[in-house]
Amino acid sequence: MPTHLTEPGLPGILKKLGSMTAIRDTYLVEQSLLRTLGPLLGVLETSLYRVDDNGVVLRALHHARTMVTEEDGVQRVAERVEEIANDQNIPSAVRELLDNVRLLGKPCRRKTGNDLLICYPLRGGNELCGYFVFQRDREVTPVEDAIVNGVLEVFTNYYELLDTSQRDQLTGLLNRYSLETNLDRLWNLLSIRIHDSENENSRRDKTPKTYWLGVLDIDHFKSINDTYGHIMGDEVLILVTRLLQSSFRQSDLLYRYGGEEFIAIIAANDLESATLAFERARKKIEEFQFPQVGHVTISGGFSGADPRVLPQEVINRADSSLYAAKHAGRNRIFHYDTLVKEGVLKEVASGSIDLF
Ligand code: GH3
Ligand code: MG
Ligand code: MG
Repeated sequence: MPTHLTEPGLPGILKKLGSMTAIRDTYLVEQSLLRTLGPLLGVLETSLYRVDDNGVVLRALHHARTMVTEEDGVQRVAERVEEIANDQNIPSAVRELLDNVRLLGKPCRRKTGNDLLICYPLRGGNELCGYFVFQRDREVTPVEDAIVNGVLEVFTNYYELLDTSQRDQLTGLLNRYSLETNLDRLWNLLSIRIHDSENENSRRDKTPKTYWLGVLDIDHFKSINDTYGHIMGDEVLILVTRLLQSSFRQSDLLYRYGGEEFIAIIAANDLESATLAFERARKKIEEFQFPQVGHVTISGGFSGADPRVLPQEVINRADSSLYAAKHAGRNRIFHYDTLVKEGVLKEVASGSIDLF
């Protein structure tokens, strides 16, 4: 029985675009893009790469379809989606192709065996924000090229719109809604990375494999508002955001969790490096001269982002450590396990989950 992977035609494409833009989640809309373009191009595997402002790949999404023959002989398409939060493990042929597309600013292709590896850039505004990649045994026709470009344009516009709803307007940071809707997926990604690091194959990968979640809160922020006004308060929030962003790595995640409260999820090799990273952020803010307001400080609490512990429990641990930091006089960042060891906090024996 032949595999029915023919072009769906214009009504089919419009229907797929319609269902793609009905989705309200950036991750699902990415999957939907791959699900739309794969059959359109007659290929079983498609990939999407997301890059940061410097062109570093933040993550890759692979979509594969296989034809499965059921017991009664009927063929069915099975799908597999794989997400990798990593700049490593990208095949060198793909990496070279991505670099070409970035330099030339247009779709490129290269030969691999009898096939062609083809890559289209994704643009958010004028910025390159990712790549769409697939492999095929023949060239893209002008009609296909026009369709792919059209679909990618609809996708990036819609993605940007969705992304806006996941960001805080004042600071541009990811918002609490974004954290809460992505927490489970984020935890899965962390556990995959930790699991990978135990494999021989990824020994060369130098990216730290343990993650730490910190809750950071501006000290006496209410009195900044009361003394200098709400607009000045807003300015302090923006400046604190920029200081935190410049202190952490671009691949670390920073959220505005509440009014003057932030959550940072950072990669660090061990407790010492994580402590240093959070301390660096705290000091950077302490030393900064804020216009009119002068000095501002933050307090924080952090805990290992252990994928075996429920994410909400990790947030609670960081939060209770923050509370202890406030209680101890502010302008300090405490580590949960250390507080437990010192008897300052009591360990809560809940929220444990099995890993693999
Ligand atoms: P602590 O050191 O214990 O954290 O004291 P605090 O004053 O920072 O904490 P509190 O929770 O009492 O006050 C937080 C204040 O943050 C109250 C609220 O008006 C202000 N706030 C929340 N969101 C915003 C915002 O978007 N802009 C401004 N200007 N202020 C905000
Ligand atoms: Mg505060
Ligand atoms: Mg607060």
